[in-house]
Amino acid sequence: MKKQFTFEAETERLLELLTHSIYSNKEIFLRELISNASDAIDKARIKSLTDTQYLAEDTQFQIKIDADNKNNIITIEDNGIWMTQEEVIKNIGTIAKSWTKDFLEKIKESKEENHLIGQFWVGFYSVFMVAEKVELETKSNDSENSIVWTSEWKWSYEIAAGEKKSRGTIIKIFLKPEEKEYAENWKLKELIKKHSNYIGVPIMMKEIENDSNKEKERTWEQINETRAIWNKNKSEIKDEEYNEFYSSLSYDFQKPLSHIHFSTEWMVSYKSILFIPQEKNIFGGNDDPSKEYGPKLFVQNVLILEKARDLLPVWLRFISWVVQTSDLPLNISREMLQSNNNLEKIKKGLTKKIIEKLRSELKDNQENYNIFLQNYGKTLKEWIYYEMELKEDIAGVVKFHSLLENKDITLDEYLEKVKSTSSENEQNEKKEGKNIYYITAKNISEAKANPYIDQFQKKNIDVLLLTDTIDEWIVGTLHQYKENKLISITTSDWELENEEEKKDIEEKTKEFKDVFELMKNTIGSDKIEKVQVTKRLWENIWALTTKEGWLTPQMEKIMKAMGQNIPHQKRILEINPESKIAKLIFEEFKKDLKSDKLKNMILYVYEQALLLEWWELEDYRWFINRVNTFIQ
Ligand code: ADP
Repeated sequence: MKKQFTFEAETERLLELLTHSIYSNKEIFLRELISNASDAIDKARIKSLTDTQYLAEDTQFQIKIDADNKNNIITIEDNGIWMTQEEVIKNIGTIAKSWTKDFLEKIKESKEENHLIGQFWVGFYSVFMVAEKVELETKSNDSENSIVWTSEWKWSYEIAAGEKKSRGTIIKIFLKPEEKEYAENWKLKELIKKHSNYIGVPIMMKEIENDSNKEKERTWEQINETRAIWNKNKSEIKDEEYNEFYSSLSYDFQKPLSHIHFSTEWMVSYKSILFIPQEKNIFGGNDDPSKEYGPKLFVQNVLILEKARDLLPVWLRFISWVVQTSDLPLNISREMLQSNNNLEKIKKGLTKKIIEKLRSELKDNQENYNIFLQNYGKTLKEWIYYEMELKEDIAGVVKFHSLLENKDITLDEYLEKVKSTSSENEQNEKKEGKNIYYITAKNISEAKANPYIDQFQKKNIDVLLLTDTIDEWIVGTLHQYKENKLISITTSDWELENEEEKKDIEEKTKEFKDVFELMKNTIGSDKIEKVQVTKRLWENIWALTTKEGWLTPQMEKIMKAMGQNIPHQKRILEINPESKIAKLIFEEFKKDLKSDKLKNMILYVYEQALLLEWWELEDYRWFINRVNTFIQ
C-alpha cells in the first residue's frame, strides 16, 4: 500500500535550490550518502556493544556501491542501523539540522549560493542535484517488511512496503540523463578516493565492468583505505591525506593551519591526530561553546564517542581531533569518562602539545598563523582569564596591536624591542623586569587619541593598544608576563621623568597649589580627586588619569554598557604647566580668581579631557557656549 506525503516548506526550498543549482561540484552527493551510510554503521557498531543479538549473522560492516551504466542507476547499500517509518519521515522528509537552516538563511541574503553549497553539509538532499528519482529502502531487525521511500522530487514522496530482507539501508539513484557519467565505475571510484577514502568502513565495488560478449564474474572489492590513518606511520601520510581527513572530521573544506600526529605510551597509551584550523569554519559551530565539541574517541579502533567533550578544554573547542586508546573499556559511557583518571592525563598532555604547536607555528608559519589569530585569537585570549595555570603560556601565543609598529605583535616581541632600545631608555630598564605599557580602548583611534601616547611616541617606547573587550579582563588577570609588569598608561603609576624634571614638578606643584585647589572645587570634588603637575604629557595640555587598583575608564564603559549602575569614577587631572593654555589659566587666576572667564576655562579643560577619552558630556550646550564665548 502506497502513501503520499508532501515535503515541508523548508525542505522544498532546499530541494528547489539544489535541483536548479548550476553548481559545478555536484559530485559531493556521493560523499554525503557515503557519510550517512558510515554514520549508520558506526551507530550499529555502538548499539551492538550493549545488545549482543543486534548484529545477528550480519557482522561484516560494509558499504556496497554498484553502478548500472546501461540504465543510469547507482545503488548504495549499508548494513548499519535502520530507520523505522517514523524515522524515515522525520529524518528524510524534514530538515532537522540547524546548519541546513542556517545555510538557507545565508543564501537568502547572498548571491553566492553556488560557492556556499560546497561548504555546507547539505546531506541527503544533495542527491537531487544528479537524480531524477531516488528510492530509499530500509529494513530493521525486528520487522518483517522493509519500507521504501520514493521521491521524484516534485514536492512529494511516497512510502510503501518493500521486500528487503537484510538489516540496513539501500539507496537507488536514478540519474538524470545528463548526469549519466556518474553511473560509470571509474568515475565512482575516483570520487570515493577523493572524498571518502578514510571513512573507516570498507567501501566495496564490483571490480570488472560488463563485457559486451559475455557477462564475466564480478567480485566485490574494497576501494577505499580503511587502515585508520592514526595507525599509519607519519612518513607514509602525505599532506593531502591529512587535509582530507581533516575535512571529514570537521566539515571544513579549507586547509587547516597545522596538525599534530603522535602516540604515547607514557601513563596512558593513546594515539592521536589533531588539527588546528586556520580559517573560520563556515558552519560556525567550531567556535561556539554552546555547541557540541570534542574529539572522536575510538577504543580499540571502534568509534565510541562522536564528541568526547571531557577530553578537551573548552577554550580549544575549535580543534578537530581523533583519539584512539586501548586503555579504556569498550563500553565506556560519557558519565564513566568523566570519572576516569586517565582522561585528565590525556587532556593535560594534549593541551600541552597544542600550546607547543601554536608556539612553533607562531615562529615558523607567521602568515598563516596571523590568519588563525584573526579567527580564533579571541577564543584563545578568553582563556588567559580562565586557565590560571596556563595563562602566561596562552598570553605568549596571542598578539596585541603595537603603537610603534602599527601591527600586531607578541608580548615577547615587545620585550625584545625594549631590550634592544634600553640604552636609550634606561629609566625603563629596572632590575626586577621591564614594563609592558598598554592602553585599553574601544578601537585604535580612541587609544591613539589618549594624551599620554605622545610622550611614549617621542621617547620611542612602545604601547600595546588593546581593543578587544576581553583585553580589559586579560590585563587584569595577567598583571605581569615573565615577571615584566603590565602597566596601563592611563594610570599615574608610571614615570618617564629624569631627576631634573622631577625637581621641576615639585617646584611647580608648590607654585600652583592654590590654582589646583580652585580647579578641583570648580569641577567638583566628586569627580576629581586631585589636580597635579605632570611632565608625562608631551604637547598635550591635560589628561585624566587613574591609579592602580582603580577602575579603568574602559572597564567603567564596559560595565556601564552591560547595564551596571556604577557612578562615574573619580579621576586625577594632570596638567602640563608648559602649555600655553595652562599659562593663560594661571595668569587669569592671578588677576581675578572669581571671574566667570576663569571658571569657564577650568570647566572647558575638564570637558576636553573627557572628550579625549571618548566620554559623553553631561550637557553639550554648555560646552559649545564656552567655546563660542572664547572665540568671540
Ligand atoms: P545528516 O546525515 O547530516 O544528519 P542527512 O540529510 O544526510 O543529514 O540525513 C538525515 C538523517 O537521516 C541522518 O541524520 C540519519 O538519521 C538518517 N539517515 C540518512 N541516511 C541514512 C542511512 N543510510 N542509514 C540510516 N539512517 C540514515
